[in-house]
Amino acid sequence: MHSVIVHYHEIALKGGNRPWFIARLVRNLRVLTADLGVTNVRTLMGRIELELDPAAEWEPLRERLRGVFGVANFAQAGRVSGVDPDEVAAAVLADLDGRSPGTFRVSARRADKRHPLTSPQIEREVGGRIKQAKGWAVDLSAPDLTVRLEMLTDETFYSFSKERSAGGLPSGVSGRVACLLSGGIDSPVAAYRMMKRGCRVHFIHFHSYPILSRVSQDKVCEIVGMLTRSQLRSRLTMVAFGEIQRQVVLAVSPPLRVVIYRRLMLRIADRLARETGARALVTGEVIGQVASQTLENLAVIDAVTRLPVFRPLIGLDKNEISDEAQCIGTYPISIIPDQDCCQLFTPKHPATRTTVAEVEAKEAGLPIDEIVARAVAEASVEHLSFPPKRTEAHSTG
Ligand code: ATP
Ligand code: MG
Repeated sequence: MHSVIVHYHEIALKGGNRPWFIARLVRNLRVLTADLGVTNVRTLMGRIELELDPAAEWEPLRERLRGVFGVANFAQAGRVSGVDPDEVAAAVLADLDGRSPGTFRVSARRADKRHPLTSPQIEREVGGRIKQAKGWAVDLSAPDLTVRLEMLTDETFYSFSKERSAGGLPSGVSGRVACLLSGGIDSPVAAYRMMKRGCRVHFIHFHSYPILSRVSQDKVCEIVGMLTRSQLRSRLTMVAFGEIQRQVVLAVSPPLRVVIYRRLMLRIADRLARETGARALVTGEVIGQVASQTLENLAVIDAVTRLPVFRPLIGLDKNEISDEAQCIGTYPISIIPDQDCCQLFTPKHPATRTTVAEVEAKEAGLPIDEIVARAVAEASVEHLSFPPKRTEAHSTG
């Protein structure tokens, strides 16, 4: 069986954009599978075929296809040229690979409705031949083995197992967003949810090196490396924030510091986002999770940017977010202890109900524009790709 048949569902609904969505999915699949023995990727009447080199290994390819956004399901498949039931049954029998189910059924779909036989007729014709050759009983409701046939105009694909994939929309079709990524549990999940809806996420991390260790940067690199498996290319911007926090500590009394740190982060992120064409900011904030995440404080934080701020986790409990982080694989990295820049100079009792007026009054004592411009100019950028090609680091300034 030297093919994989890939099915998409949601993107089939996108009307006029459909060809473009499919072209993007094909491109993503090409990039993602080129090093795994896939020799060609082609669209075929509502599905996509990956053609495999005979030496291609199935397991690594399968593992990779499970995570591709825009794919509903996929199956390793064999191809027969033509739609003749004798030839199809012979090919199926030759590829059964020692399978010996107690019961089976054939399930056929015609992509080309001009086919001379209906789907039930094809099922009976091919099923009858398999039954005759193998002696297996037919069970239409709960068979041990389902032989799936997809009849196109002049070729037929057959497969024995179908696997679910990540769903969502192909990476890149929804445009760019910039996600504020800490080394914690929440923000990687927030980024993943945006990626699943077809956004390409640009990551921005604020660190306090050299005041604190490099651990948060190392964690974030590893998290971005993992998330890049889903979006193929990532940009990660590291912003030095320790000195900025020191300046805030000198000018602002403890209760308002956290909200002011966040407003500074958002201002810097806003600038970096605009430079890279991102149309929204994303954070891992959740209502009521910590003092800075009250309705009042979120509004005060948002007041510094005109970009929409998306918070995909806003209504989730911590355990729901942790479960999702486990599923996407970032959890074990996120729980490695580090010294987050937010713990640095963080007051014991931050204000939970700030107002724009009081915060602006405190910020008047800080050279905000200068702080932001400098942070942006001195930020460093890393590009990651999957499958990994190269890692570069250079300054944007
Ligand atoms: P997380 O798992 O995202 O760290 P948290 O519960 O630690 O969540 P906070 O530390 O209050 O939450 O941060 C709220 C949000 O602000 C984060 O989800 C993230 O989007 C952003 N953020 C916080 N610290 C940083 C940082 N050092 N660099 C980039 N973004 C940050
Ligand atoms: Mg955090």
